[in-house]
Amino acid sequence: MPQEIKDIIIIGGGPTGLFALFYAGMRGVSARLVDALPEPGGQLAALYPEKYIFDVGGFPKILAKDLVKGLLEQASQFGQPLHFAERVVGLEEDGGLFTLVTERERYPGRAVVIAGGIGAFSPRRLPQPAAAPWYGRGVYDRVLDPEQFRGQRVLIVGGGDSAFDWTHQLLDRASAVTLVHRSDRFRAHAATVSAVSAAAAAGRAKVLTFHELADVRGNGDHLTGVTLRDTKSKSTHDIEVDAILPMLGFVSDLGSIAEWGLTLQKDEIVVDILMETGRHGIYAAGDITTYPGKLKLIATGFSEAATAVNQAVHRIYPEKKVAPGHSSNMAIFGQKDD
Ligand SMILES: Cc1cc2nc3c(=O)[nH]c(=O)nc-3n(C[C@H](O)[C@H](O)[C@H](O)COP(=O)(O)OP(=O)(O)OC[C@H]3O[C@@H](n4cnc5c(N)ncnc54)[C@H](O)[C@@H]3O)c2cc1C
Repeated sequence: MPQEIKDIIIIGGGPTGLFALFYAGMRGVSARLVDALPEPGGQLAALYPEKYIFDVGGFPKILAKDLVKGLLEQASQFGQPLHFAERVVGLEEDGGLFTLVTERERYPGRAVVIAGGIGAFSPRRLPQPAAAPWYGRGVYDRVLDPEQFRGQRVLIVGGGDSAFDWTHQLLDRASAVTLVHRSDRFRAHAATVSAVSAAAAAGRAKVLTFHELADVRGNGDHLTGVTLRDTKSKSTHDIEVDAILPMLGFVSDLGSIAEWGLTLQKDEIVVDILMETGRHGIYAAGDITTYPGKLKLIATGFSEAATAVNQAVHRIYPEKKVAPGHSSNMAIFGQKDD
């Protein structure tokens, strides 16, 4: 069955794409959203669901996963379809109509908003072959529920924000936390590094610099321990662990988006002030875009999504104005003009 033609098809279900879907509904046009991840939220859901965000307007402090919940509720209110675990692998154009091609479907639309963030991304994996069989049953590169590690002996690998944040957050849950990093230079917030260092000084955690993972051991289905190597002396020692959390950053892949004839700078799409990509009818918003003064922030993504959708709406329906008016006056929300 061919899919229904929507006015706007949105690639990406991070904060920018979710807000774009809401905005399309608010402007009274049809839309659908497609994302490769199995759940909404983009980086917020995949990389830092348990971290607080402090710089989204109206929320002095909000957990990333709670912001996603709110965005999803806001985006879903007009009943527009959202498709997850579906990677976009192509875009075709015929007579001004676009077709978004995914691994499973073909979605036609009159305009496209690319809110693909840093591309379809995946956490960087441990290079040690011995770790590979333990992924998902002892080695976890995403923490969806920190309670999972209550009472466990946890090894965290890395020297960035995620490594330090999780070391800090697991101090009171895990029975032992060891952080290993290949150097003594950290790329994490100074305050979190200080908090973890203080915990280590108090014997509540171990921080091993100039160390790396050398081997992973298990018994049947249970991970039981690792061998760590001192990168300076090359000596090794074994410790018992129940879980390994590699926090090594992530690799992202623009995939087929890079082949759509858009102007790219590194892995970002160059847009103008109207969020137009240079290909008529294709707009971009959020982390995937670049222009002078670009800020890669959630707040910026919201604003760019509004611009992209308003422009697309006006392009498809010239009788509809670019400026949306105030939501506080809109009949669609049951409000009346002042
Ligand atoms: C650890 C960390 C902490 C942060 N803290 C803050 C903060 O405090 N405040 C702040 O403002 N910002 C913060 N950010 C940045 C913020 O998360 C990003 O600016 C925001 O996520 C960008 O939203 P987006 O929707 O544009 O992209 P993303 O969140 O990256 O979402 C893009 C989505 O597009 C999907 N996608 C990409 N390619 C395809 C494809 N081919 N097919 C299908 N789907 C595809 C991806 O799967 C992804 O879900 C933080 C980032 C990190 C990593």
